[in-house]
Amino acid sequence: MRTIGLLGGMSWESTESYYRALNEGVKQALGGFHSAKIAMVSVDFAEIETLQRDGRWDTAGETLAAAARQIEHAGADFLLIATNTMHKVAPQVEAAIDIPLLHIADATAESLVADGITRVGLLGTRFTMEQDFYKQRLSERYGIDVVVPDDTQRERVHQVIFEELCLGRIESASREAFLAVIDALHARGAQAVILGCTEIAMLIKATDTQVPLYDTTALHAQAAVKCALSGSLLSEDTQ
Ligand code: GLU
Repeated sequence: MRTIGLLGGMSWESTESYYRALNEGVKQALGGFHSAKIAMVSVDFAEIETLQRDGRWDTAGETLAAAARQIEHAGADFLLIATNTMHKVAPQVEAAIDIPLLHIADATAESLVADGITRVGLLGTRFTMEQDFYKQRLSERYGIDVVVPDDTQRERVHQVIFEELCLGRIESASREAFLAVIDALHARGAQAVILGCTEIAMLIKATDTQVPLYDTTALHAQAAVKCALSGSLLSEDTQ
């Protein structure tokens, strides 16, 4: 079994979900006492969140690159960055290490493609919903059309992520708000919705809505388990 590198702490609430999903995935595949081999570094999210807010992505990228190097030195065979947003600096992280990065958007897109989804809604931080680094990867590499919520809804989704979910707060009013956003995306032709922030599955479950949901945390972890057990990354740009 290969060792999974896990760059977490963004927020630790979702890294906990990753840790569980990785171990459950390996246990399900191999049975008994089997568990995932993981080399993890968990950063202080307060530092990262400040840099995000100030638009100092280069410095955030340096912090993550340094953490990724630590993970590589600890013996990881490949790397997961356990957040959608910080894939904005994925190229900077990849350039700092010699092990491959299993990109969260690739793990998600491969599942969408396998299910024949060509138009999808995207929920995430403002950075993920509004900037190109994520949407463009889905459209250019996989031909998937991405629909994002309107400005007011994006503001609400972003606020819930940072003021509630990343702090471990689950509020039913926010669940209702997210479900309304999901319905609005569906009404605009999205066949499914990506939970493109690794904390959203703490709030919304597949059974809460008729619209198919693609949880990036679960899909990223599943792809990592597959990679750890089979030895190959799933994306076509495997290094
Ligand atoms: N975990 C979140 C994500 O998947 C948000 C926290 C962050 O900004 O990294 O985007």
